[in-house]
Amino acid sequence: MSRCLKCSSPFRRTRGDHRYVESGLSFVVLSQCILLVCIACDVSAAVLPNAETLHIAIVEKLLRVPARFTGEVIRFVRRSLKLTGDEFAGLLGTSRVEVSRWENEHSGMHGLTELRLRLQMIDLLLPPESATHATHHEVATVMTDLGFGNLPIPDLIIDAQAHYGADVNRRRMTRHRDDPVGAELES
Ligand SMILES: [Zn+2]
Repeated sequence: MSRCLKCSSPFRRTRGDHRYVESGLSFVVLSQCILLVCIACDVSAAVLPNAETLHIAIVEKLLRVPARFTGEVIRFVRRSLKLTGDEFAGLLGTSRVEVSRWENEHSGMHGLTELRLRLQMIDLLLPPESATHATHHEVATVMTDLGFGNLPIPDLIIDAQAHYGADVNRRRMTRHRDDPVGAELES
């Protein structure tokens, strides 16, 4: 049974929004995220869903985001591709120094380079059934419409519900039935 580290009270399990900064992205919000909330004080923690399927959902949204990629996005994509700075530079025909400048926001990625990156993300990070010609076309259209504007990236809301394993939901429902207070939780 896990208890609050601050006051040793039990946690209550609930659902709510969680800003998913663990992803390295400041603008991704998981809705319907399982949260453990101390019944006595203000401590709370998120029970994060399956990282793998969640990651694909984030990539799907990023591909279509109607704003230019920022440093945190570029770093997230490079890490998702499991590439070093050198390898990532090779993929985009640039230098490791330039990659570092993008990630630290000392310079912006050229629009055509970003288009190339988004198209690579489709082929390298999406499951084959999603990496279609239509997706390429859609992403190219997003980039074309974007022009050279500098809009901030809006919050991307992702429903976490679909990314928890079935066992988590079953366990949760059992708990709710057996113990409406929910003051257990050995997760
Ligand atoms: Zn507490």
